[in-house]
Amino acid sequence: MRTAEIRQRWLDYFESKGHTIVPSVPLVSPDPTILFTIAGMVPFIPYILGTEKAPWPRAASVQKCIRTNDIENVGRTTRHGTFFQMNGNFSFGDYFKREAVDFAWDLLTSDQAAGGYGLDGDRLWVTIWEKDDEAYDALTQGVGLDPKHIVRLPREENFWDTGQPGPAGPCAEWHYDRGPAYGPEAEGGTVDPGGDRYLEIWNLVFDQFVRGEGQGKDYPLLGELEHKSIDTGAGLERIAYLLQGKENLYEIDEVYPVIATVEEMSGKRYGADGEDDVRMRVVADHVRSALMVIGDGVSPSNEGRGYVLRRLIRRAVRSVRLLGVEDEALPALLPVSKDAMKASYPELEADFGRISQVAYGEEDAFRRTLTSGTTILDTAVSRAKKTSDGGPAVLGGDEAFRLHDTYGFPIDLTLEMAAEQGVQVDEKAFRSLMAEQKQRARADALAKKTGHADLRAYESLQKALTSPVEFLGYTDRQAAV
Ligand code: ATP
Ligand code: MG
Ligand code: MG
Ligand code: MG
Repeated sequence: MRTAEIRQRWLDYFESKGHTIVPSVPLVSPDPTILFTIAGMVPFIPYILGTEKAPWPRAASVQKCIRTNDIENVGRTTRHGTFFQMNGNFSFGDYFKREAVDFAWDLLTSDQAAGGYGLDGDRLWVTIWEKDDEAYDALTQGVGLDPKHIVRLPREENFWDTGQPGPAGPCAEWHYDRGPAYGPEAEGGTVDPGGDRYLEIWNLVFDQFVRGEGQGKDYPLLGELEHKSIDTGAGLERIAYLLQGKENLYEIDEVYPVIATVEEMSGKRYGADGEDDVRMRVVADHVRSALMVIGDGVSPSNEGRGYVLRRLIRRAVRSVRLLGVEDEALPALLPVSKDAMKASYPELEADFGRISQVAYGEEDAFRRTLTSGTTILDTAVSRAKKTSDGGPAVLGGDEAFRLHDTYGFPIDLTLEMAAEQGVQVDEKAFRSLMAEQKQRARADALAKKTGHADLRAYESLQKALTSPVEFLGYTDRQAAV
């Protein structure tokens, strides 16, 4: 089943169960405290927190997401994309645990001919909060899940909150057992003993309680919420890789065509070499993410979202180079990614002229940077190796700073390229040189403005204005689930 169809089935299923279908919001987060939309619930946060009344009692969506915290996982686990689509169903003070569990079971296990995904219910495992007997009952008596497939976990592992007093509640995370070929059978209270056997596909969050003050997960539950909510998220690509019988998320119909093109360009075969495979998966993931991020209006820059985009493009371009291809990569790959995505996102076709211009321009600029800086970096790396005296080879902070300042090498590029040659970078020294430079620039600017350079008052003001506002709620939730 193609990913676009799995997506459509989700929407059709929940529409048939009385949910209003709400279109995805852009990847540029509508919540100003986070850069990107990281989950399906982001546009619904006010309804979940109860600060605004939801316009509908139940809703469903397929939300475009970017998670930069997963960038290092890409290509190495079977299940993490920087871009992915989160299917969600939501109840705002309407149905609760029992129905949410019913819907999940029904959609996952119903026959494909009947509109479901046709997954084998005997392979589902669910982790719940250890005290959540309601969830246990809904899963066992309700839908008939084997009690041996329910794992009770403490609050630290399976409980959502916003990091402050207010709504909180247990989660039920659904996993699919891919079988003994992928690792040992679950035991000892976890369904993911570090391997890929139990693939997390769907997280059901039950916004049930009012919590009080406390650190971490150590707070009292003061009672039940008057308006309980359901907030769920299922990875569309994860379901797709199961239903398409693939080994991982990068082999599904929406991602793999880029890998196939990289195979042609490089003359290397996917599956022949572990590290090359990782590079191919990184390319396919990052090209798709760049496509979607530019599509939603982001341009490359040196900070914020633009920097994330820059990093995605640079990592993709470099990975193609490491596969031995010297030619420009994106003109060959971006159209392939667009064609793979346009069934669900037809707007990509209409906007592709603009999108490709932004992407190709960034690749050109990066190729120039690489040409001028690579020799300098290589020289610094060999010097570091020579002077390491048998200890670990470390490239000096001053060298990293020079690469940044003169050759436009961002620190993460220096880190990555040095690491490829087994060399560390004195990042601390680099950071302090950067801070000094910033300080000098500020002093200069202020001296120009005011004629003297007493920075103290200015600095505290600057700090107050620029200190990042953190959205603790979601960070905490991610830690919890
Ligand atoms: P994991 O433990 O695998 O990193 P998670 O617990 O961080 O996942 P949630 O925050 O619970 O994920 O998000 C809900 C669902 O979204 C997950 O169950 C999964 O199916 C999907 N999902 C999360 N992160 C990704 C990702 N980087 N790529 C693809 N799907 C994802
Ligand atoms: Mg995660
Ligand atoms: Mg989860
Ligand atoms: Mg998880």
